[in-house]
Amino acid sequence: MPQFVQEDTTGINPPRIDIDAVRAAFPILDQEVKGKPLVYLDSAASSQKPVSVIDAIAEYYRRDHANVHRGVHTLSERATDAYEGARERCRAFLGAAGTTEIVFTRGTTESINLVAASFGETFVKPGDVILVTEMEHHSNIVPWQMLCQRHGATLAVAPMTDAGEMDLEAFDRQLDRQPVLVAITHVSNALGTVNPVAALVRRARDAGAKVLVDGAQAVPHLSVDVKALDCDFYAFSGHKVYAPTGIGVLYGRESLLEAMNPWQGGGEMIREVTFDHTEYNVLPHKFEAGTPNVSGAVGLKAAIDFVDDIGLRNIAAHESDLLRYATAKAAEREWFRVVGQAAAKAGVLSFDIEGAHPNDVGMMLDAEGIAVRAGHHCAMPVMQHFDLPATVRASLGVYNTREEIDKLFASIDKIRDLLV
Ligand code: PMP
Repeated sequence: MPQFVQEDTTGINPPRIDIDAVRAAFPILDQEVKGKPLVYLDSAASSQKPVSVIDAIAEYYRRDHANVHRGVHTLSERATDAYEGARERCRAFLGAAGTTEIVFTRGTTESINLVAASFGETFVKPGDVILVTEMEHHSNIVPWQMLCQRHGATLAVAPMTDAGEMDLEAFDRQLDRQPVLVAITHVSNALGTVNPVAALVRRARDAGAKVLVDGAQAVPHLSVDVKALDCDFYAFSGHKVYAPTGIGVLYGRESLLEAMNPWQGGGEMIREVTFDHTEYNVLPHKFEAGTPNVSGAVGLKAAIDFVDDIGLRNIAAHESDLLRYATAKAAEREWFRVVGQAAAKAGVLSFDIEGAHPNDVGMMLDAEGIAVRAGHHCAMPVMQHFDLPATVRASLGVYNTREEIDKLFASIDKIRDLLV
């Protein structure tokens, strides 16, 4: 068993995360902010990076860097091996059938824009319907809205309940409109809701739709198997799962990616170019124009190794314990409103404090060394549903502790006394 996990020697209890070892792996956590030890509760916006990821990137630049795929020299071969090795690691992580189905992008936003541009251009006609849900991040709304405007298609919305769960009957009614594509989030960044994605995909595919799943908030907390989900596209960002910024993945079903035109032209994505005609490269290179983010891919591989060393099951158990602990503390305060009360949640406690503006709460928490997010979380329709301008969001990573949740609530009590 790797160093981050302690086995129960009796064999009765599940393994436990060695939280001291995990925290020691994240150098950034060991600092004071505003004279207080940093409490980082903003991992849903971006997670921190373990030393193994930082070292992998530095090592790559110290020893192996060159451009990929086109060099005949040794460094270029090493860089290509590192880049393609990272692709294979992502394939295994998502349970995809082949590396032809793994396209590297800048992140979730770019992955979704790729599908909107490329699938959209090839398959979306005037009068078609694209279905999203009410709990999507703007990245899974706006690209579809832009596509609908370009192609004369209609954007339909499947509503959520006041608990922040999908309304399955209303979802089915929207499917009666026979959307060409359904775009749904696996886990809501604003509410923490874990959607029953496999069931939603099945219903949507039975209705004849292609399905894109936004996995930005799922991949750090849940193990994902795209074959079991049977989705057509799955998007995630490296930086939310302990990898660097600027790298992400689009999984796409091979037959669909084959049928789609490239969305950007340039180097790497071609096989032969004349002024009359260009023959495109094979998958996945057809969708990767220009010099790729090789060091980002190297960092992403190291991050997936880190997550696998601990085990997503152990990470999920640790974070669920923290979320239950925080939710119980919230329930003790009648002025503390948890926004998003889904039965299944991961990683996020979104809240509103009666009589206090979320931005003030966020700033006052920062004065205590506590990093949270205050705002609409790029999910304005979610805020509109709850008739709120914003919420405060505390979000969890593998490195958080119960002591940090205690500090959060002690500070919130203080702020409430000051403001109200
Ligand atoms: N979807 C969801 C659910 C997210 O939480 C985010 C990031 N907040 C995104 C998409 C966009 O991710 P990125 O900014 O890394 O492209």
